[in-house]
Amino acid sequence: MPHDFIPTLQSNSIFSLVSKAATSKNLKAYVVGGYVRDVVLKRESKDIDFVCVGSGIELAKEVAKLLGQDAKLSVYKNFGTASIHHQGFEYEFVGARKESYRSDSRNPIVEDGTLEDDQNRRDFTINAMAISLSEEDYGVLIDPFQGMEDLRNMIIRTPLEPAITFSDDPLRMLRAIRFATQLHFDIEPDTFDGLIQQAERISIISQERITDELNKIIIAEKPSYGFQLLFHSGLLKLIFPEMANLQGIQKINGKAHKDNFYHTIQVLDNICKMTDSLWLRWAAILHDIAKPATQRFHEKAGWTFHGHEDLGAKWVPKIFKRMKLPLDERMKYVQKLVKLHLRPIALVNDKVTDSAIRRMVFEAGSDVSDLMILCKADVTSKNPERVKKYQSNFKKVEKKIEEVEARDKVMNFNPPVSGEEIIEVFDIKPSKVIGDIKSEIKEAILEGKIKNQKKEAFELMLKIGKKKGLTAKRS
Ligand code: ATP
Ligand code: MG
Repeated sequence: MPHDFIPTLQSNSIFSLVSKAATSKNLKAYVVGGYVRDVVLKRESKDIDFVCVGSGIELAKEVAKLLGQDAKLSVYKNFGTASIHHQGFEYEFVGARKESYRSDSRNPIVEDGTLEDDQNRRDFTINAMAISLSEEDYGVLIDPFQGMEDLRNMIIRTPLEPAITFSDDPLRMLRAIRFATQLHFDIEPDTFDGLIQQAERISIISQERITDELNKIIIAEKPSYGFQLLFHSGLLKLIFPEMANLQGIQKINGKAHKDNFYHTIQVLDNICKMTDSLWLRWAAILHDIAKPATQRFHEKAGWTFHGHEDLGAKWVPKIFKRMKLPLDERMKYVQKLVKLHLRPIALVNDKVTDSAIRRMVFEAGSDVSDLMILCKADVTSKNPERVKKYQSNFKKVEKKIEEVEARDKVMNFNPPVSGEEIIEVFDIKPSKVIGDIKSEIKEAILEGKIKNQKKEAFELMLKIGKKKGLTAKRS
């Protein structure tokens, strides 16, 4: 087994270089953690962690010297670590350490330790493997917890007692689910039991770190798996209660609605096949978030969720704020998509008017194509006939969008008559009436009463002005 690594290590000169530096400083050095895992999984990684018995900073300084001018060394004295940035790679150096934990913090008490101590403090067996870079045993794998076997069997398992590992640093619970999702691994049953047992401990982790892991789950290939693990571990209701609340089916008079949690994660998987955008994926997660809050039962109509799109859109800022997600245009984008997510569906019947299309394009702006992606992903019917019908209807809507936009240019709507022009023509002071005239013109365009062009808009402006008792100085 160890020999498997030699070609990989030799092909990248950084390893022989670190080896040389370690020998000259009389230190024992190892490649450790995620890089070793990723080499075996053939995943590309640009971050490489080195651990040495002794001072990581001293080793890093020596390596930087050998790398020459290109290398950018940063030393973090307080943490006893150093990193080197070199040709797009990031090398981290740290001395082997031993950690012990207190119950109120995820920050451990750290002391110098052996390689074994260092491997003991790592989160999962697959992340605890090291490869020696010492001259005498260069390339030998040091795998005290059979991480290689777990890699082969695609299993996430803690090296030591799961409940203690998770209680010591509860972020590891999210890391377990994140790795399972990214790598398509199972979480070993005892490890998952430990996770369920310690779920409440997540409360000591900062929101930034939680959101970081959540976003990594969301940008994975099939995030539904991660969300199922989050749900079944009890973590989801702690870190994202609105989403956990989507789960469940109620039945009255034999009428049931669908389970909105499973629907949502299916929509999310669907959208992942169409986009890598984290924010479009967030829109999928949030599109039905207010369904439980708007759910009603009617004798005749059965279950309804009237206004869930508006209420959901209203919740987006508070959810983003709590999750420490950005509150800028990315939030507004998600909010807009949540608000508009039913619109293309309402448009799929044949009698749809151009003005309805124009209004949707006007409101969605250049995000209208993302809105269409969200709508397509939202089709989770198991009836193939119905799915086919929806898809062909969406195609029709897309064609109409193209036609209408080519003709009317409302996507990035630019008022054909400006406020300055209205002021000048009627010789009036800036006031509310100018906004009123502008919005009447816009409405007339969206309704199709006039074309989106200067001449017709100007004539309408004169007409509206006259109605309002204004006198034009020119026409
Ligand atoms: P990725 O870089 O894809 O997130 P990684 O495994 O490299 O995966 P890092 O956060 O870069 O993850 O951490 C590097 C290594 O440090 C891990 O492989 C693991 O051995 C160890 N490690 C990181 N975070 C923890 C933690 N919370 N508890 C224990 N060990 C950890
Ligand atoms: Mg890493």
